[in-house]
Amino acid sequence: MNIRKIRKDFPILDKKIHGKKLVYLDNAATSQKPIQVIDAISQFYKHHNANIHRGVHTLSEEATKAFEDAHTKASKFIGSTFEETIFTKGTTESLNLLAYSLKDKVKKGDEIVLSQMEHHSNITPWQVLAKQKGAKIKFLKINKQGALDKKQFSEVINKKTKIVSLAHMSNVLGTINPTKEIRKITAENNALFILDAAQTVPNIPVNVKKLDCDFLAFSGHKMLGPTGIGVLYGKKHLLEELPPFQTGGDMIEEVNFKESTWNKLPWKFEAGTPNIAGAVGFGAALDYLKKIGLETIQNYEHIISQKLIAEFDLLDFVELYGPKTSRGAVFAFNIKKLHSHDVATFLDEAGIAVRAGHHCAMPLTSTLGINGSVRASFYFYNTEEEVMMLISELKRIKGLLTK
Ligand code: PMP
Repeated sequence: MNIRKIRKDFPILDKKIHGKKLVYLDNAATSQKPIQVIDAISQFYKHHNANIHRGVHTLSEEATKAFEDAHTKASKFIGSTFEETIFTKGTTESLNLLAYSLKDKVKKGDEIVLSQMEHHSNITPWQVLAKQKGAKIKFLKINKQGALDKKQFSEVINKKTKIVSLAHMSNVLGTINPTKEIRKITAENNALFILDAAQTVPNIPVNVKKLDCDFLAFSGHKMLGPTGIGVLYGKKHLLEELPPFQTGGDMIEEVNFKESTWNKLPWKFEAGTPNIAGAVGFGAALDYLKKIGLETIQNYEHIISQKLIAEFDLLDFVELYGPKTSRGAVFAFNIKKLHSHDVATFLDEAGIAVRAGHHCAMPLTSTLGINGSVRASFYFYNTEEEVMMLISELKRIKGLLTK
């Protein structure tokens, strides 16, 4: 991987912030976009823009092909099939779709199992469902290292469990969760196994058939694509059983004055005019990532992570949350006695973009016994030099504190 060449594809990385070179370490929130993605969207609007599936004219056929090609690319990217790959606005919409469409599978007294490290978008849709149905939500606990102890799985997941929905990787702790063990125990108890893969699909090879999950959700904007486009994968027999989330144009087979029948998969779950240009940009993003290779990206981020962990180990004023192994390149930490927002503001002055606060995981924040944290999250276009810039800025901030 030629990092210098790669960085040239990302125009924004040349930007100066407060006169300093931008160091973009907020990739868990959203990634930057290469010129190939920006151009694909612009080319679509310049040369192929039309609505899809309805027109017989040439432009509409071109737009339809571009949109459907993006579905094919997304399905291949995660080892699924065209029919099982639904485009949504992103992870949040995918999980809301599921919580809505699974409503008939959950009844009073049933249990839904999540973990303490979930993003709000994998908590709130289930809370709404549980409230409507009189079901109970149980949370798998994190240990001191910020990982899930496997021992608790058989205690928490049982015959009452209907759904287990889990972050594949935590957007705060960086923890990568043990899917094999969870899959086994959900299958033994006839529960559905859902993965929130917003943080893994961009960074490590993900294959839905190997994971054997029932559903999986992710967002295009965290993997070089535009905002407003993402995926819900579902096993075909399950998607066929479920009622649609939204109804209206394009998702129907036939409508009369009394009732309607639904279109085939995946269109049954894609009501209305979709984000066509977004899908085209997403397709270009998938091409870009495929060319580099997810294994290459994973290995590179592992090197960056090891470097950062080794440097953090030398800083006694930094408290790092999350495990040191089985993790991705997302690091939540605090400088003792400083508020995370103050640290992020100091870093911004140095051109370093990080996130501060609860990172849409308030229950996790309170479990950790903190009021927030600073989060530095890396992608394959970040460099070891940028790791060192973060470290030296943290030292400078600490120095200011002791002056
Ligand atoms: N789950 C996880 C683990 C995430 O990191 C995020 C984004 N921070 C989401 C869900 C929500 O993604 P989106 O806002 O793209 O719908």
